[in-house]
Amino acid sequence: MKKFALGITAAVLLTGGVSAQNITEQNVARTQEIIAGVLEAYGGAERLASLNSIVIEHQTTATAVGQSRAPGPPWDRNNNQGQDAIQFDDSIFVTGTSGTGGGFEFDNTTIINAEQSYQLNHRAGTATPISQADFNTASGPFIRVTPALLVRQLNLRANTARYLGDAEVDGRSHAVISFVMQTGPAISLYFDQESYRLNKSERVLPGFGLIEYRFYDYDNIAGIPFNQRFELLVNGDTNLERRNTSTQVNSDITALTQVPESLSRLAAIDPDPLTTQKLGEGVYLIGGSGTYAMFIEMDDYVIAVGGAAGIPQRISELRKVIATKPIRYGVMTHHHSDHVLGVPAYAAEGATVIASNAHASVVRAAATGDVELKLETVETRRVLEDADRRVEIIDIGPTAHTEHLLVTYLPAEGLLFEADHFTMPRNGVVPPAVSSTRSFAGALARHQLEIKTLVSAHSPLTGTPQDLQTALDKPVVR
Ligand SMILES: [Zn+2]
Repeated sequence: MKKFALGITAAVLLTGGVSAQNITEQNVARTQEIIAGVLEAYGGAERLASLNSIVIEHQTTATAVGQSRAPGPPWDRNNNQGQDAIQFDDSIFVTGTSGTGGGFEFDNTTIINAEQSYQLNHRAGTATPISQADFNTASGPFIRVTPALLVRQLNLRANTARYLGDAEVDGRSHAVISFVMQTGPAISLYFDQESYRLNKSERVLPGFGLIEYRFYDYDNIAGIPFNQRFELLVNGDTNLERRNTSTQVNSDITALTQVPESLSRLAAIDPDPLTTQKLGEGVYLIGGSGTYAMFIEMDDYVIAVGGAAGIPQRISELRKVIATKPIRYGVMTHHHSDHVLGVPAYAAEGATVIASNAHASVVRAAATGDVELKLETVETRRVLEDADRRVEIIDIGPTAHTEHLLVTYLPAEGLLFEADHFTMPRNGVVPPAVSSTRSFAGALARHQLEIKTLVSAHSPLTGTPQDLQTALDKPVVR
């Protein structure tokens, strides 16, 4: 009996103990404790709540991992400069960048302001309305590289926050808190245990890997610490280095939302659903959301051209127009990471992947899954021919975008498929040519290809040599 009574006492004590020891309660208490310290370090909850607008000017060096002219390191490094502005009470976000990289020159601004949202192309002198602007999606990347805004978000979404543990960063102990923003996977924030400053954050993007953000050189602006330097690492490799040259807090940003009178206003660009277009007898362009593949029907097989995103869905669509002929070849235009995504899909079809000789190792690395890759490489030209059709796969490189570029040319039809050099905008208004477009035009002339139709991996609209000439002739506005 006594033993039983003791048992009850012990149980009561234990129950009391369990509530204090419960891992979730402990975690919530520790999370709240850290967030309280962080809020104080970032000027206090009140000051952060009254943080309504921020304008940051920056200079950035991007390392073009998997996006350089050569298929391997050392990667090309590209410079750009820009300005980001956010205003929370009206859900306004404005981001502008100008610079060069990958054979492109650019000077663009995106204005997210409800019904008054625009994409500005200052080089072309055009303003295109954005039909479905989303403040949270558009501003997320800026918030993720701005510690004060991450802390503000963390405070607003503290109910999603969890303490993950402690970790060393640069020899100092940090408390790690994870929370969930409106969009994207959970983000882990590393706060210095003494200063409570955010020195590092991390996310895992499925299919992409570990994205790491490092924040350096804090300066106090309007009572809030702002980093003056930032670095982005992808799977441990430096991808982006940025220096913030100016940070303004709670200034009026409405002037930045105005579309300059000098720009010509184009028609809005609508969403781009998955479609199948017949370009000629047995030639189909299938795609949507900015990526397209071309399929060519031969007597007893199909040639697929292009390896950008969504190849499995494009093959499913192909089966509605060509039900049974096997895909015997899948042609990779070039080695860039966004253009070898289709390799596993073609391998799974039992197709032979055709790529530039120089891109063989990148294409092999892109082949995931159990099926063994059949790879055929092209030195200068490969011809596929039967009684009814001739298809030429030609390396027209080098261009300003890549050292080797396989175009697929149908001489009888005068049709040529390429990626990343001449993309018809969906509103049909051709902007001034960039370096990659110029070098592409030069390569077409060198190879003396007779072309009627230019098909691109990034547009549902085909172009003509006249369109290409229009781009070459068009002056750069700014
Ligand atoms: Zn490319």
